[in-house]
Amino acid sequence: MADTRPGIPLRGKMWYNLFATRGAGKSGMLRGQKGNTAMFLIGNHVSSSKGYLAMGKQAAKLGGNTFAFFTRNPRGGAQKPLDEADAAALRTFLRENGFGTLVAHAPYTLNACGKDEAVRDFAHRAMEEDLARLEAALPGQYYNFHPGSHVGQGTKEGVRLIAAQLNAILTPGMTTTVLLETMAGKGSEVGRTFEELAAILDKVRLNEKVAVCLDTCHVWDGGYDIVHDLDGVLAQFDRVIGLNKLKALHVNDSLNPCGARKDRHAQIGEGHIGAEAFARIAQHPVLAGLPKILETPNDDAGWAREIAFFKAAAAGGAPQKPHGQAEG
Ligand code: FE
Ligand code: FE
Ligand code: ZN
Repeated sequence: MADTRPGIPLRGKMWYNLFATRGAGKSGMLRGQKGNTAMFLIGNHVSSSKGYLAMGKQAAKLGGNTFAFFTRNPRGGAQKPLDEADAAALRTFLRENGFGTLVAHAPYTLNACGKDEAVRDFAHRAMEEDLARLEAALPGQYYNFHPGSHVGQGTKEGVRLIAAQLNAILTPGMTTTVLLETMAGKGSEVGRTFEELAAILDKVRLNEKVAVCLDTCHVWDGGYDIVHDLDGVLAQFDRVIGLNKLKALHVNDSLNPCGARKDRHAQIGEGHIGAEAFARIAQHPVLAGLPKILETPNDDAGWAREIAFFKAAAAGGAPQKPHGQAEG
């Protein structure tokens, strides 16, 4: 079937015309882009407890063609020894099944801008080990991390410490791209605003090794209205950071209203963002080809329904919300 997606009409204009009238951002991606031929990449965060190949099989079973996984116990802990044969089996599986780029997730307790040196040292060591492991096991993927919490030191000092850690770890020869995740802004989290993320990226010397993963629940909770003005939010991202730096999405609904700064994920269509907004995200040409990762509270059947929803939306349909029609 021919792709007859109309784009998103806004004030009577197609989205790409609207962008043209708003002026160019850093990337130049928002002018003149009319369609999308990139492969649609969708998957969920899978358990790493049964090893590498098992993750690929699990993701494929649910209908995914990308996935996320924790590089070690999400609360920290020691790295497991590498099972080289298992890693090689996953690499083969991904190639043979047409998978796109994976989005590995650092433990969420790492804090590159902690107040105590021991906290920062652990974050440094764990990230260094994780990146070495990815080079050995799964080269060329994304490694996503939470920038950190400045715990009273101030955003400016937080930004400085995060950039300093990246400058100490990143190497010219690495094949992994490290992604800063957009944060909801709870507590003293750094990275709620695009400006804070841009400030970190600006200080990283090996700039081509770092980029951004946008979490829909987090930006919504952080105050960016992706429901009523997705185009405006993307244009803002382009002005402040540059859309060429947007490499992956976490697609999560939110239990809370825009600006709540809570970071509580909901199933797709069951929160304040809603299924229609996710259908627009699935269809947006600027977001085409970026891996979209579900971190929603679900069982396997629920993730499979959400993956099917995104695929149907991307194909130009208006799919029913994935979890039934009960209470609108
Ligand atoms: Fe995260
Ligand atoms: Fe996330
Ligand atoms: Zn979250």
